[in-house]
Amino acid sequence: MQAMVLHRPGEPLELIERPDPQPADGEVRVRVAACGVCRTDLHVVDGELPNPKLPIIPGHEIVGRIDAVGRGVERLASGMRVGIPWLGRTCGHCRYCRSGRENLCDSPLFTGYTRDGGYATHVIADAQYVFPLAETGDDVAAAPLLCAGLIGWRSLKIAGEGKKLGLYGFGAAAHIVAQVARWQGRDVFAFTRPGDVAAQAFARKLGACWAGSSEEPSPEELDCAIIYAPVGALVPLALKAVHKGGAVVCAGIHMSDIPRFPYSILWEERELKSVANLTRKDGEEFFGIVPQVGIVTETTAYPLRRANDALSDLRAGRLQGAAVLVP
Ligand SMILES: [Zn+2]
Ligand SMILES: [Zn+2]
Repeated sequence: MQAMVLHRPGEPLELIERPDPQPADGEVRVRVAACGVCRTDLHVVDGELPNPKLPIIPGHEIVGRIDAVGRGVERLASGMRVGIPWLGRTCGHCRYCRSGRENLCDSPLFTGYTRDGGYATHVIADAQYVFPLAETGDDVAAAPLLCAGLIGWRSLKIAGEGKKLGLYGFGAAAHIVAQVARWQGRDVFAFTRPGDVAAQAFARKLGACWAGSSEEPSPEELDCAIIYAPVGALVPLALKAVHKGGAVVCAGIHMSDIPRFPYSILWEERELKSVANLTRKDGEEFFGIVPQVGIVTETTAYPLRRANDALSDLRAGRLQGAAVLVP
């Protein structure tokens, strides 16, 4: 197999070749067709997340086909088209796993962070955390659904059912969530970096009724808002944009510090929450609605060996939609 490996945070990934991995009991091996580049990968590579497995192969938006099956795997077979998400394994017995909140498991494994991921030609996954995908469809287009889509879906549920939805940061997740929210009959307000007219036009193209700078006041009071950009300064801005009882959801795994803000913008039962990881139930729900919504993802494909360029382009905000690596 070939893979792009991170030896130490802060260093570029290195292309390596090693023997094909073999699936253990309960695992499958997937031949990777496409792997999306998520902002979380940047946080891993830049050393902003604690205790990664090192060396690590990043990548947790994996689409491919099973090409080897370990003993004891019944629900999956060789040749099936599957997706592998961030949630790689949970313990099954901690208080969170037992209460339907496996996303908060005390001893989880995360794909591309604490177990090897999809910046590679092959990847091993625990069969119980693999999502079967429809047999047809474009692999590159599907890859961003595995995290941007799934986390986007979970954050949208947690934001509640309000009609007027603000999205702060219009990248890979927001461009999928905007389409789901429109399909649900909501109005989408897109807040981008000041001056990012390309992202604002992109948001309007995907059905946003308004798009503008995050530093502008919202043109209307919002019911709820989701923050995808890793920028703590957006929290008070979003709180000011939602009306009484409204919710603000922080959907990233890492964010810069939130500046001090007056209690008055939280008062009146506004809620501030974060979203962490996903459950397998989120995946079943989301992949259930994907064909109905007809989600169209905007992607830029890079060959696997150019993973460092894809990460740099994401870091610099040079991408619209999502970067996807193709081995
Ligand atoms: Zn657990
Ligand atoms: Zn992700």
